[in-house]
Amino acid sequence: TVARLRPFASTIFAEMTALAATHDAVNLGQGFPDTDGPARMLEVAREAIASGLNQYPPGPGMPVLREAIARDRAGRYGTEYDPDSEILVTVGATEALSAAMLGLVESGDEVLLVEPYYDSYAAAVALAGAQRRTVPLVVDGDRFALDVDALRSAVGPRTRMIVVNSPHNPTGTVFTASELAAIAEVACEHDLLVLTDEVYERLLFDDAVHTPIATLPGMAERTITVSSAAKTFNATGWKTGWACGPAPLIAAVKAAKQFMTFVGGAPFQPAVAHALDHESAWVDALRTGLQAKRDTLSAALAHAGLDVKRSEGTYFVCADIAPLGESDADSFCRALPERIGVVAVPVDAFVDHREGWDTLVRFAFCKQDHVLADAASRLARLSA
Ligand code: PMP
Ligand code: GLN
Repeated sequence: TVARLRPFASTIFAEMTALAATHDAVNLGQGFPDTDGPARMLEVAREAIASGLNQYPPGPGMPVLREAIARDRAGRYGTEYDPDSEILVTVGATEALSAAMLGLVESGDEVLLVEPYYDSYAAAVALAGAQRRTVPLVVDGDRFALDVDALRSAVGPRTRMIVVNSPHNPTGTVFTASELAAIAEVACEHDLLVLTDEVYERLLFDDAVHTPIATLPGMAERTITVSSAAKTFNATGWKTGWACGPAPLIAAVKAAKQFMTFVGGAPFQPAVAHALDHESAWVDALRTGLQAKRDTLSAALAHAGLDVKRSEGTYFVCADIAPLGESDADSFCRALPERIGVVAVPVDAFVDHREGWDTLVRFAFCKQDHVLADAASRLARLSA
């Protein structure tokens, strides 16, 4: 393995999912749902295969999907993207993120990541030959807040891009209007690009509101917005995502993307287009269901003696294991499958600086109720 990729030899999700299999444990580690997406969406994909949509789709993605993405973002946020030049279909959000860095960041440039960060960001920065610099979230009661002063002081002469992720994996934080405004102000002041990962944009709880940072003043021209069908439509295995932004930025993302995968799977594209156009009620029900699951799992974790943080969106809730007398989330999580038959992910897998994060554990609740009930009874053994 080349030096720049050596730190990224395996992912925490692959490691933990392997542990789940070994110990026949309930897998609350990797975030993927255990039920299918909307029935009609699945049918459209089957029909696409049956009707011969089995060859390369166009490089930027099938027009039917690019048009549906444009309608979706215009309808929900009022943002206008030209389907021909400002939208690119990618192999999941992951490819969009990596291609954006490869296409827009020079080697030696710096990219700011909010810490903890989703694991692919650091690897993508490394692939681009760039350097990452982290800006921490800070605990504010039972919520994680952006450290705006740290963001300001992290910007240097080589800073090229800020990566934003809200709703945030792993903490479940949804950035407030003032946090987003602070990021936008810094980006405009220093003429930075913003790469925003909005894959959990519709998985919001209570009164949380998602505002795409591209809608803030001065941001449309410098923002690449990334999302995906994975989380919105329970289709993580379809690997169908997209990037939206101004034509010159999308052209740069496409320049990289075309030599990574060229195109993504054709039959999924009309199916996702259908879902974006017609499955809002299904997504609303998903959201309501996930909120109840969040409550179930949060209660089980609190019952087991953990200090549970507030999840405002995503699939995830974080909890502190310090009240159990534990001091190291990494070894706690590695032992947990054998100890009680539950898999979870240590939040320090998503940080460069462990301090303050070393007793925090992320649990995924995107699982059927009987699975969560099983997990709850296993977790109860922690305090027994
Ligand atoms: N970003 C975040 C924050 C995620 O949690 C995930 C996956 N769970 C992705 C990107 C990747 O999305 P995709 O599967 O569409 O590549
Ligand atoms: N995004 C999912 C998570 O955070 C996992 C995706 C993966 O396995 N790379 O759990």
